[in-house]
Amino acid sequence: MARKPIGHERVAAMTGVNPNWLMRFVRDHPEVRKLTAGAETPHLAGAIDVHVHADPCSLIPRAQSYTEVAIECANAGMRAVVRKDHSYSTVGEAVAIQRHVDHLVESGRLANRIEVYGGIPTRFGRGPELVRDALRTGMLKEIWMNPVGGVPLVESTRVYPEVLDLIKLAAERGIGLNLGPPNHSLAYAGIDDYDGLAPLVDAVAKIGCVACLDHPLSSYDVDEIDRLTPPGVYAGLFCFPSLPSIIKGPLADPQETLDLVRRIGAGRCIVASDVGTMLEPSTMESLRLMIRFLLGLGLPGPAVDQMLKVNPAKLIGLSTPSLADEASFPRAAE
Ligand SMILES: [Zn+2]
Repeated sequence: MARKPIGHERVAAMTGVNPNWLMRFVRDHPEVRKLTAGAETPHLAGAIDVHVHADPCSLIPRAQSYTEVAIECANAGMRAVVRKDHSYSTVGEAVAIQRHVDHLVESGRLANRIEVYGGIPTRFGRGPELVRDALRTGMLKEIWMNPVGGVPLVESTRVYPEVLDLIKLAAERGIGLNLGPPNHSLAYAGIDDYDGLAPLVDAVAKIGCVACLDHPLSSYDVDEIDRLTPPGVYAGLFCFPSLPSIIKGPLADPQETLDLVRRIGAGRCIVASDVGTMLEPSTMESLRLMIRFLLGLGLPGPAVDQMLKVNPAKLIGLSTPSLADEASFPRAAE
């Protein structure tokens, strides 16, 4: 794996019983002191979470059903959710939950309608037949490429021809691609994560599809992520691994998250939850913490909105809202 290790001095500071970490963090990120309770709430209004996990999950038990997640997100004023499962389609479930949500709205028991969508993983297949029938529902919004245990999409440096057909179909129909790292699947036989993903990214960019790298900070360094995000490909700034997680990665260097957004710009990032196991906060709790974290790092509000409202809408083919202010969080090089 190509990921750059966190420097020894930072690891020591983060892991020791070290009261200095707090003061150092606040000194380095003075915006933290300006945060007030509920600072994240306006950023949730109109937000889209393009990477929800829920129970029943084929991988591991999760603390909430998709219905529960959708209703919490609706109550926060969010616009849409898309659920991922590594093994099966979540499209039928999305159809049923959307009907339930609509019933709650019509009967006055839910104030805000939320759009509930699903996706299909390349777990057992990789050609366009995987999604063709589900397209009819209008509820298919993402294809989860390289899920855990998925079939390989790339052989050495060549993208399989049927995968190219799948990407073309997704581009035609406004379906977003979630690009997982090849290490999710043993079938890749240990191919380097960068070498295994770069040909897929090239194909996506050439065909003109829209895609999002699945939590790239867990597999790639910032230079690699920069190269893996040509126009149309976003970096997933997900709660994992930006927030520490007992079960997935108990140590997270906050500086990496900031470095990534500084390097590639908010215009190329998408914030999403990607949580929900029994040992993590809920989707809504994680999103709230993630937004406060980004604001505390000093990202301007419009940049946060760009990553939560505008870029996710582009990924899943929804109309894009116009923000009051231009999201101006700069690329470091500019
Ligand atoms: Zn995930």
